[in-house]
Amino acid sequence: MPELNLILLGPPGSGKGTQGERLQEDFRLPYYATGDILRAAVKEGTEVGKQAKEYMDRGDLVPDEVIIGVIAERLQQDEAADGFILDGFPRTVPQAEALAEKMKELRREMTAAILIDVPEDEVVRRLGGRRTCEENPSHIYHVEFDPPKEEDVCDIDGARLIVRDDDKPDVIKNRLQQYREKTEPLVDYYEDRGILNRVDGSHSPDEVEEAIHGILATLRREEEEGM
Ligand SMILES: [Zn+2]
Repeated sequence: MPELNLILLGPPGSGKGTQGERLQEDFRLPYYATGDILRAAVKEGTEVGKQAKEYMDRGDLVPDEVIIGVIAERLQQDEAADGFILDGFPRTVPQAEALAEKMKELRREMTAAILIDVPEDEVVRRLGGRRTCEENPSHIYHVEFDPPKEEDVCDIDGARLIVRDDDKPDVIKNRLQQYREKTEPLVDYYEDRGILNRVDGSHSPDEVEEAIHGILATLRREEEEGM
């Protein structure tokens, strides 16, 4: 079976994490959210995990080559033999170039970069409306799409609902600006390499999932036909 080596791209609030988890289930591919696999490598004490830990212990950013090392460790495991889903890396063009270099070393190729496209005002609406339980941060609501029964009160435990720092207007604006400046050029980068696929992320999660399935089915068919 041809490999499905995928990168998920999209602004904050585009639902990338949700789609990544669904793809993992639907296609039985490992889903590598970069932050998660970095923490796992540190915990397991792998060779690159130890390197990453040194930076993290000092409070420094983990350099790109160490993150790529962590990703490469995963890609060489059996679980990733048929493909993988990468989320959170690359975030910049230089990171994408370094990743491409590593993939070449491993004699593999990216199959597709999937951009979940969501307009900025929709991102602001999604993130800005989020309310989080003060007692248990896994209790999450949305003033518009999933409101609590009583305003600003958690349905489950009656605790107060707050706006997380990440969801405050200035922070959202800043995250979007970072995305525009550093990550959006990646869209051109993958477009130039002919592997960019756009999905309209303003639809429901089910509809977005269906659109991605359509793209992947086409890609698999093309690969099998040797195109
Ligand atoms: Zn709660």
